[in-house]
Amino acid sequence: MKFDKSVPERDRHRIIQALQEIKKYGSVQQRETARFIEDSAITIHLGLAANVGGSGSILIDGIVGANLAIWRGGVSVREAAGFIRLNIARETIDTGGQRGIEGTFVHEGKHARDFALMIASFSGGDERKYFNPTAFQREYSAHLTSAFYLKRRGGEYAEEGIGLGILSDNDGKLSVSREGIRARLENNYNLTPDAPGKRLSELSHPNFAPRGTRLWGLL
Ligand SMILES: [Zn+2]
Repeated sequence: MKFDKSVPERDRHRIIQALQEIKKYGSVQQRETARFIEDSAITIHLGLAANVGGSGSILIDGIVGANLAIWRGGVSVREAAGFIRLNIARETIDTGGQRGIEGTFVHEGKHARDFALMIASFSGGDERKYFNPTAFQREYSAHLTSAFYLKRRGGEYAEEGIGLGILSDNDGKLSVSREGIRARLENNYNLTPDAPGKRLSELSHPNFAPRGTRLWGLL
């Protein structure tokens, strides 16, 4: 990962620390996401929540370059991360502390990986292998992985999950609430299995084009 100049030294250390914690306490998949962030050329940016669009978000840095790379073919998942920027909000760090950073990197890290997987799969040019989830699928899986992470961490992390409705506490027995996640997606994101939102490739302008598609009517 590379930090852009928006991230002060002190916050860089906190983010590096958060990734260490995810590798220590996370599931196999979460540890893989943390390593993906550490080892790839993903950009980390820090901004105010109003600009970031919440506690964190993903931005494609150069859709034209990404489409050219897809057109050339053979892009690895790690290389694809070079076109991705993970934004974290100032407020997430200041009010959420270490827990907020970990939560954001687990959730947004999943989204970042989805983007990288899509770019890599599109660059293969084999339609049957395209990875192009809907907004519902992306948010469902990101919320699911967040819920499992908060449950594994326990304590105040689990409290946060209960507060969000993505964990439930039945007489001291914690479980991931799939109903709670669905309710949250419907209420906060207007996403349901019947109204799943846009596919990942449709989020950028121009859209992501699989290999073999004529780019700008030229190539
Ligand atoms: Zn999300």
